[in-house]
Amino acid sequence: MLVREFQRLVDAVLPPKAAMYGDAIGLQIASKHSTVARVLVCLDVTEEVVREAIDTTCDTILTFHPLIFSPLDRLDRSDRVSRCVSDCIAADISVISVHTSYDALPQGTNHILATKLGLSPLTPLVPNDGIAGGMGLLASCAFTYSELLERVSDVCGGPVRHCPSEKADVRWVAIVAGSGMPFFNDAVRLEADVFITADVKYHAFHAARGVIGLMDPGHFEMEQFVPIGLIELLSPTMPSVLFVESTVMTNPVQYSTSQMQKTKTFSSYPQGSHGTADQSLGTTNGRGRAVR
Ligand SMILES: [Zn+2]
Repeated sequence: MLVREFQRLVDAVLPPKAAMYGDAIGLQIASKHSTVARVLVCLDVTEEVVREAIDTTCDTILTFHPLIFSPLDRLDRSDRVSRCVSDCIAADISVISVHTSYDALPQGTNHILATKLGLSPLTPLVPNDGIAGGMGLLASCAFTYSELLERVSDVCGGPVRHCPSEKADVRWVAIVAGSGMPFFNDAVRLEADVFITADVKYHAFHAARGVIGLMDPGHFEMEQFVPIGLIELLSPTMPSVLFVESTVMTNPVQYSTSQMQKTKTFSSYPQGSHGTADQSLGTTNGRGRAVR
C-alpha cells in the first residue's frame, strides 16, 4: 500500500485531533517509492534504529516520539536529528510519528501501564472534547503506598524517585506517562492519592509534600510498552503489512546503582492541605530569576 493510505489507516485508529495541540505527529519523511510493506515500530528514532530498519528491510518506521519535533531549518550531519533524517532519505525509508494521539487513546500509553501495575483504569485525567479518551488517566488502586511503589519499580524496571503520600493506603492513582508535570494540578484537583509521571524536577517534589504522593520511574521506563501496544493495535487493521518491534534500546539514561543505597529520605511531613493544588510551581525564588 502507498504511504498516504497507510497514514490514513493509522489516523482512523489514532485520530490526529486527539493529539495535543502543536504536537508533531503524522508523516515526517515520505520515501521516494512511498510503499509500505514492512514497518519497524519504535519509541524513538536513533541512528541505530535507522540501521535496524535497513538491516531488516523495513520501508517505514512508525515512531512514538516524533523524529522532527522542532522545525528543521537545515540539515547538518553534526546534528543527531539531521543525521537520522538524511539516513532515512538515503535509504528511502518513510517515518511516521503518533505520539500524543496514542497517549490520548483509551487503550493507549497510560492504560497499558496502569493495567501492568494492577490498577483499574477509570477515566482520563483531562478528557478530550467530543473524542473518547484524553490526556492522562485516573485509576483505582487497592494497594498500600509501599506496595504500589514496589510494583512501579518492578514493572518499569528500575529505581523510582518519589515523595511519599501521607496516606498509607492508596485509593486513586493519576498517571501521565512521559513529561506529565503540566497535569500535576489536575491530579490534585481530582484528589488522586498518588501521581505517577516522569521528568519531575526537585522543586516539584517539594511542592508535592503533604499534598499528593509523587512517583517518577523515568520517561523511557513509563513508555517502554508503547511499541508492542501499537503493533497489537494496528496489525489487525492492516493484514497486508508486517509490523516489526524494534530491538534497539533507545533509553539514553543510565543509573549508578551503587549510590542509590546511600540516598537519605525524609522521615516526616509538614502538615499540608491535602487536595489543594500547588500555586507555586513555576514561580521565582524572590531573587529575580526563575530557578525551574
Ligand atoms: Zn515521551
